[in-house]
Amino acid sequence: SAEVIYGKPLAEELRQEMKEEVSALHEKKIHPKLVVVIIGEDPASMSYVKGKQRASEKVGLDSELIELPVDTSEQYLLDLIDRLNQDDEVHGILVQLPVPEHISDQKIIESIDPRKDVDGFHPMNAGRMLTGQDTFYPCTPYGILVMLKRASISLEGKHVVIVGRSNLVGKPVGQLLLNENATVTHCHSRTKDLRHHTKQADILIVAAGRPSLVSGEDISEGTVVIDVGVNRVDGKLTGDVDFDSAKEVASYITPVPKGVGPMTITMLLHNTIEAAKRIHGQ
Ligand code: NAD
Repeated sequence: SAEVIYGKPLAEELRQEMKEEVSALHEKKIHPKLVVVIIGEDPASMSYVKGKQRASEKVGLDSELIELPVDTSEQYLLDLIDRLNQDDEVHGILVQLPVPEHISDQKIIESIDPRKDVDGFHPMNAGRMLTGQDTFYPCTPYGILVMLKRASISLEGKHVVIVGRSNLVGKPVGQLLLNENATVTHCHSRTKDLRHHTKQADILIVAAGRPSLVSGEDISEGTVVIDVGVNRVDGKLTGDVDFDSAKEVASYITPVPKGVGPMTITMLLHNTIEAAKRIHGQ
C-alpha cells in the first residue's frame, strides 16, 4: 500500500525557513506585505482568505484583508487595485476568486501589477512560465512541484497525466512539469475513456472538483497520485480520488485534507516574500 505524502509537515518546515528569511528582511527595513481582497461573503472563500491571513501573520508578513460587499462595482475594484499597485508598502496583491458575476475576473487579474501578482495568474506571468522564464508560479501547481521534489519523485521522462485543464490548476501544473521534462497529458470533461489515460500515468494529478472521480481501478500499480480536489460531501472535505482503493495500488498518494492544501498557502507566502525581495532589489 502507498506511502502517504502529507503536505502539512513540509509546509511547516518551509514556513519556518520563511520566518527566518522575513526577520532577516526586517533587519534591512523591508517588511513584505500581502493584501488580500475578497468580494462578498462566500463561506468557502472566506475560510480560504482567513487561512491565508493567519499563515501570513505566522511567518511575520504584514497582511491586510480588504472585505468588500457583494455589490461592489468593477470600477471600484479596479481603482482599489490601482492604489495597491502604486503603494510602495504593498508587495503582494491577491483578489480571491471567484469574483461576483458582474465583475470580469480576467479584467481584474490583468489589472494587478505583474510584479505584485503573487497568485501568478496575470497573462504576463503565465506567459513567462510558458516560455520557461523566472516568474511567479501559481501557488497550487508550484506547491505540487515542491511536494514531488521533496518526496524525491523524479519527473524527467515520466508520464504525468493531469485530469483538469483550468487556468488556475490543470494548465499551469502541466506547464510546470513539462518544464521539468515530464511527458504531459491533459484530460478534461470532454476526454473520451478517461480510465484509458489515467491507467497510463506514472504520476496522476487529479484537479477536477468531482468527488471519487478516480478510484483504485482507474490507476496502475505504482502510480504516484496527487489529489488536488476539495469537495464537501455530507459536511466533510474529500478529494477527487477514492483514497482507500487508490492507496492499495499507488506508490505514493496525497490525502485530502492535509495534502496539497497546506502547500498552496505556503507557496503564496513564498511568492510574497519573493515579490518584496525583487521590488527592493534583493
Ligand atoms: P475547475 O472547475 O475550474 O476545473 C475543473 C477541470 O476538471 C476542468 O478542466 C474540467 O474539464 C475537468 N473535469 C471536470 N469534470 C471532469 C470529468 N468528469 N472528467 C474529466 N475531467 C473533468 O476547477 P479548478 O479551479 O481547476 O479546481 C479543481 C479542484 O481543485 C476543485 O475541487 C478545487 O476546489 C480544487 N482546488 C484545490 C486547491 C488546493 O489548494 N488544494 C487549490 C485550487 C483548487
